[in-house]
Amino acid sequence: MNILVTGGAGYIGSHTCVELLKAGHQVVVFDNFCNSFPEATRRIGQIAGTPLTLVEGDIRDRTAIERALRENACDAVIHFAGLKAVGESVAKPLLYYDNNVIGTVRLLEAMQATGVKTIVFSSSATVYGVPQFLPYTEDHPLSSTSPYGRGKLMVEDILRDYHVAQPDSRIALLRYFNPVGAHHSGLIGEDPQGVPNNLMPFVTQVAIGKRDRLQIWGGDYDTPDGTGVRDYIHVEDLAVGHVKALEHLRQPQCFAVNLGSGRGHSVLEVVKAFEQACGKSIPYEIGPRRAGDLPAYYADVTLAKSLLGWKATRSLETMCADSWRWQVANPNGFRV
Ligand code: NAD
Ligand code: UDP
Repeated sequence: MNILVTGGAGYIGSHTCVELLKAGHQVVVFDNFCNSFPEATRRIGQIAGTPLTLVEGDIRDRTAIERALRENACDAVIHFAGLKAVGESVAKPLLYYDNNVIGTVRLLEAMQATGVKTIVFSSSATVYGVPQFLPYTEDHPLSSTSPYGRGKLMVEDILRDYHVAQPDSRIALLRYFNPVGAHHSGLIGEDPQGVPNNLMPFVTQVAIGKRDRLQIWGGDYDTPDGTGVRDYIHVEDLAVGHVKALEHLRQPQCFAVNLGSGRGHSVLEVVKAFEQACGKSIPYEIGPRRAGDLPAYYADVTLAKSLLGWKATRSLETMCADSWRWQVANPNGFRV
């Protein structure tokens, strides 16, 4: 297939492009590089041994997307493009709704105008809100607590409504848990700008000496060691999940599925695993809880297995080892 990958130069998009190329698809990356570098797309081609097509553009520009879909005879879209910092979304809600929600509407209009019926959307476990039970199953009630999360939920609703109006559409809503790690080649990985918000890139920067110590946000949760528990998933496993979702979309349908490992790890477990991977100790201090954080959550992965024939295979140790390999080989990320 010819696949338009919005946000394909970003963290999850770049790893997915590698898997798509490996599976024999043609890839067109559509990205405005607001949080990524063209160098990432060169490296995707280097890993896969096949070049891809790169279109610089913004998803809010319907004409530009239509042109990219037409000129490349695209059969499907994988839609990663979006802003993802929860705290920033609280400070700049209009920016988030414009980019993430209105951008998706423009993308769907362009798909409709060009007859492209298949879309895989990057949703998030954040759409489950405060757990009423764990693990989260796909039929857990949906709610959200930030403009970022509400945007994900709005786009899910928009896509469900779109499927009702266009019953021949083929839509996958992939609810990611906590993607971490990097490609095992060390050539692509997460390249956060400024101070990382997320745990793994922060730990990685402490290990390489860019930051003094990790602040652990809360040590008094009702979890086995008091620190927050999350379901970490290796980004290469997540990337394969997209190829599987695309293969499943041979028939018109709209489905939501969790992509996680199915098990939770605490912050302290991540720190210990990272220390093993890098052979250094990670200084940390336990501080207050971060506003809005949940104590613990993890995925029920039964549906992913039965529907897509997919499950995560890489361990927390591999996630840490691959993050470390990427960091050591690219201390400045893609800024070569
Ligand atoms: P990322 O920032 O690395 O990648 C997003 C890409 O989209 C970047 O290359 C950016 O330049 C591009 N982009 C943003 N707005 C654009 C626009 N208007 N037009 C064109 N390109 C645009 O983020 P990521 O971690 O790879 O996340 C990808 C998707 O997965 C996002 O939608 C994110 O919300 C979702 N998601 C991420 C996580 C996570 O922890 N990383 C978890 C759940 C869901
Ligand atoms: N966390 C932390 N220190 C940090 C960043 C994160 O203790 O500098 C904790 C956070 O409180 C949560 C876990 O690590 O329990 C994962 O946080 P992250 O921001 O990576 O993901 P999310 O909160 O979106 O699940």
